[in-house]
Amino acid sequence: MVSLDAKLSAAVGGPTAKALGTHLELHTVGDLLRHYPRRYVERGALTPFLDLVEGEHATVFAEVQGTTGKRLRPNLYKTDVVIRDAEGARMTLAVFNKPWIEKDLRAGRRAYFSGKAERFNGRMQLANPEFQLVDDEAGVVAEEFAGTLLPIYPAAAKVASLTVQRSVRVALDVVDLGPDPLPDELRARHRLLGLAEALRLIHQPTSYGDVTRAQKRLKWDEAFVLQVVLAQRRAVTRSLAGTPRAPRPGGLLEAFDAALPFSLTAGQQQVGRELAGEMSSSSPMYRLLQGEVGSGKTVVALRAMLQVVDSGGQAALLAPTEVLAQQHARSLRAMLGPLAAAGELGAADVSTRLALLTGSLGAAARRSALAEAASGEAGIVVGTHALLSEGVDFADLGLVVVDEQHRFGVEQRDALRAKGTTPPHVLVMTATPIPRTIAMTVYGDLEVSTLTELPKGRAPIQSAVVPVLDHPQWVDRAWQRVREHVAEGRQAFVVCPRIGGDEVEEPAAGPRPAVAVLDVHAELAQGPLDGLRVQVLHGRMPPDDKDAVMQAFTRGEVDVLVATTVIEVGVDVPNATVMVVLDADRFGVSQLHQLRGRVGRGAHAALCLLVTESESDSPARQRLDAVAATSDGFALSRVDLEQRREGDVLGAAQSGTRSSLRMLQLLRDEDLVVEARVEAVELVELDPMLAGRPALRQAVLDVLDADRADFLEKA
Ligand code: ADP
Ligand code: MG
Repeated sequence: MVSLDAKLSAAVGGPTAKALGTHLELHTVGDLLRHYPRRYVERGALTPFLDLVEGEHATVFAEVQGTTGKRLRPNLYKTDVVIRDAEGARMTLAVFNKPWIEKDLRAGRRAYFSGKAERFNGRMQLANPEFQLVDDEAGVVAEEFAGTLLPIYPAAAKVASLTVQRSVRVALDVVDLGPDPLPDELRARHRLLGLAEALRLIHQPTSYGDVTRAQKRLKWDEAFVLQVVLAQRRAVTRSLAGTPRAPRPGGLLEAFDAALPFSLTAGQQQVGRELAGEMSSSSPMYRLLQGEVGSGKTVVALRAMLQVVDSGGQAALLAPTEVLAQQHARSLRAMLGPLAAAGELGAADVSTRLALLTGSLGAAARRSALAEAASGEAGIVVGTHALLSEGVDFADLGLVVVDEQHRFGVEQRDALRAKGTTPPHVLVMTATPIPRTIAMTVYGDLEVSTLTELPKGRAPIQSAVVPVLDHPQWVDRAWQRVREHVAEGRQAFVVCPRIGGDEVEEPAAGPRPAVAVLDVHAELAQGPLDGLRVQVLHGRMPPDDKDAVMQAFTRGEVDVLVATTVIEVGVDVPNATVMVVLDADRFGVSQLHQLRGRVGRGAHAALCLLVTESESDSPARQRLDAVAATSDGFALSRVDLEQRREGDVLGAAQSGTRSSLRMLQLLRDEDLVVEARVEAVELVELDPMLAGRPALRQAVLDVLDADRADFLEKA
């Protein structure tokens, strides 16, 4: 018997183990057993050739019609094998230098053929096919085909599904799984198979019912173990001793609320109470605030910061880009007014200071910002990554707010947390709303608060796709709309996928390079937008220039901003009401939604035009239609996620988790994930170190990769 982590060569032959390792990244017995079939084919049912997908490795079950062989050169012998499917469709397979197969592949015999589906002379072919007869001359079906369902594995070009199937069979016979990692009671409660049975049935089912039951159990493994990891992390975070930052009567927060020109939405109030309560406790808050674009997260975060300042601490706001840090500093200062003018003429009775610290500050400005942070004079410090660097000290850091989390790694959050004398409270804000189950997993070590509601009085954003190929004249109409809005005193964004001015900047992803800011600016300024004040904004501009342009736009001194996605996050100019996105198909769904969120922030009706050369009915066009059809970010994030692999979703925020999810699909298996989380939380509360559950503890360790294990040790 061998264990799950035994090398594959302990179970299958050396050459096979090597092939599985090289081509499929399967190295241990466990890797192999968790290499689940992609689908199953019913034994005896011929595969319709129409189902073949070009470029995919395929296995078909077909009937042989006949073979013809001929020697092409002295050392090249070719056999054409004609096979047919259930509908009578024919396919010819070329097999080289295996004359002996002609004896086996006689007319009427049935076999599995596998190979990569490729088009050859316009017809679908299987390249270098392998085949397996299912019966011998006497019609006796071989043992490995005796089940009703034949598993088809995700295979590589060099390893056939059949090879995997055989190796799995051997591995199942010799493996010793040890105790089941899922607790018995849990299995009983959710009616889950034992691990051994589940593995056998997923690989060797006799019915689709077997497959379903096995899948359920194996999904539970993944969901539960992952949720245990996350519950442990939350428990560790909670067990740290932080400093309570309770609200103080007569402080900045009260003064701020009294002066607020609008009333908070119900959601803002609710989340505000949540944050206030958690920050008043001595275990550090560790919370994610996700919200629809424009839902008003900044006010919520600012109120939390003021509570901390009121209690004598400081708050740091970390932004992903220089533009955004500057923008935040400016808008927070504007919102705070006299409350942020401590030491200046006209300061309020209770007041603090706001310091901005970015990489591009001049030496003097930097020194003064550093001094204000270190002395505690600045209650609020806004900055970019520069906040994380050595030499940035705080008098008493009580709260860290991280904006647009998807651009920050776990390590960076930790680096900033380490700047407090006690672990500060942490609030992570993300403007890319994602379904709750995904959030629970991607940001699983954070508690999640969600703002779904937009402030009242927002005019809806009207969105439309402008298909250049179908309606070239609509593009002119788009520029006309821009002029109309500008004539009414509004402002516009024109977004391009590329900066331009540098031919080698990026390879063309499509049939032509994407349109570029610099080209478009020149064309528009002399053409359709002649006479308007048009400026460019992109990431290659010096920080001061970027800031100057942004400020001019904010003050209404620029009519049209031609920009890259630098404006994607956070830019808040309520007077901007039109956005034209060029080559819109080059952007992702969430990105477009995010971009669109830059307009419709005021009371004026807003318009977003998605210009594209994509063909009608193409997948790209369908994505754009989806964006145009709804402005519900949560719905759109589903569209986005459904098109991406789970690993990409998880990988973005948390390395390591990627490899542990094989069967589970976070979107489709939402209910299961929620149940698993409940179970995991309960178990970790009772037994945080899993002392009584060695098998589960081992499964958890297996999931944690080196850097995540490191996280637990550090914390
Ligand atoms: P986001 O959630 O996208 O970061 P912001 O915090 O930038 O949204 O808020 C968008 C705009 O809405 C800002 O101009 C802000 O001042 C305004 N705002 C926030 N909350 C409210 C509210 N309750 N009522 C009216 N306007 C609000
Ligand atoms: Mg924002």
